[in-house]
Amino acid sequence: MSTGTTAVTLDQEINPWSAQSARFDFAARKLNLDEGLWKVLSTPSREIIVHFPVSLDNGSIEVFTGFRVQHSMARGPCKGGIRYAPDVTLDEVCALASWMTWKCAVVNIPFGGAKGGIICDPRSMSRGELERMTRRYTAEIIEFLGPEKDIPAPDVGTNEQTMAWIMDTYSMHTRQTVTSVVTGKPLNIGGSQGRIEATGRGVMVACDESLRYLNMAVDGCRVIIQGFGNVGTNAARLMQERGYKIIGIAERDGGLYNRAGIDIHQLIEFKYRNNTILGFPGAEATPSDELLVTDCEILIPAATENVITSRNAERLKARIVVEGANGPTTAVADEILAAKRIFVVPDILANAGGVTASYFEWVQDRQGYFWKEAMVNQQLEEILRSSFDDVVRYAEAHDVNNRIAAYMLAIDRVAFTMKQRGIYA
Ligand code: NAD
Repeated sequence: MSTGTTAVTLDQEINPWSAQSARFDFAARKLNLDEGLWKVLSTPSREIIVHFPVSLDNGSIEVFTGFRVQHSMARGPCKGGIRYAPDVTLDEVCALASWMTWKCAVVNIPFGGAKGGIICDPRSMSRGELERMTRRYTAEIIEFLGPEKDIPAPDVGTNEQTMAWIMDTYSMHTRQTVTSVVTGKPLNIGGSQGRIEATGRGVMVACDESLRYLNMAVDGCRVIIQGFGNVGTNAARLMQERGYKIIGIAERDGGLYNRAGIDIHQLIEFKYRNNTILGFPGAEATPSDELLVTDCEILIPAATENVITSRNAERLKARIVVEGANGPTTAVADEILAAKRIFVVPDILANAGGVTASYFEWVQDRQGYFWKEAMVNQQLEEILRSSFDDVVRYAEAHDVNNRIAAYMLAIDRVAFTMKQRGIYA
């Protein structure tokens, strides 16, 4: 099955919006999607760009650029993270926003998709600068946010503290505490048990289900993970506890390999103390690029976009790829992986644990009643297992790969809702 994407330049290949559109168009064609709905869903409904000033610690003023893109609110309020990074672009935020629409629909939770970002280098900014930037960005886009409108969450470069500042700024403007305006908050101000590790837990469920589907065993299953941040760390820890052997960890500044398995608890402590995984005594230093093409049963890209491309897909040796990150595989690489019969669990399914737990957090905030962690984990696992099942059955029924099946399932659900609601014009 070809998505017709082979004749593209590397620049086009790694443009996240092009990557999203290629899969969307292919799935929409397969679904015979109504032409009008196709047009509506191929563009985000709102793209907000703000340029705003922030006072720096040295007394000077800097102007930052921030984005918030709302792709679709057909199935409910928009939902999606906020990313702080030097290379954030509008195209990337648009792609991430539409992936959120598809992701929420795949796991059948009542949200549309959004994403935000600020072009900045959070690692070079002080806590005070980050707080002032976050609050001003929130104030700039405040009329578009709200528990019934658009609910941000953490993403790369942001965390629960960022969410607390957004929640507080929004609450100051509305003159009441509104915890449900963001998710991924600290526990004592409306956060949910189990949210921090939810994406990693979902990745683990995707691995468990893949092994079950392919008749493979957890015992002795070798795993390589790229990215040792929120998603990578939690997936590694939970999976090691379940019996997987984590043999490689690839980070931005280098990687680690140990064929007998890396002790993840010790590595987490090491990274906490040293702020890097380099120099960890329990594994050999290995270039990160090499780890991506090292022999293993499961490869989990959990760092960033465009990691598996036409440049390295042919050399991949994993049997299964479970996408913890958003957009780690390009559309061109999809075709190479399919030809190699690598089983791919696409991002919009594999990393949906985060938004599913965010949905639970939003529900708990609105109810003012908080669940025990076991309840969060059990509901999360149930939703992800049945979504995995929906996607693989859809793939079998339509003779497409898992990614296209996930897109088809999602587009079908969103289009159905749009038809029910009708077009207000
Ligand atoms: P994070 O910032 O906590 O961690 C990312 C890690 O990847 C960092 O340790 C960073 O050093 C590393 N990294 C960055 N570039 C790299 C590279 N080129 N090679 C190797 N390592 C690299 O971010 P996160 O929250 O773990 O998110 C990771 C990915 O998962 C992103 O694509 C994000 O959009 C996606 N995601 C996150 C969540 C969530 O709940 N946090 C939910 C869904 C999807």
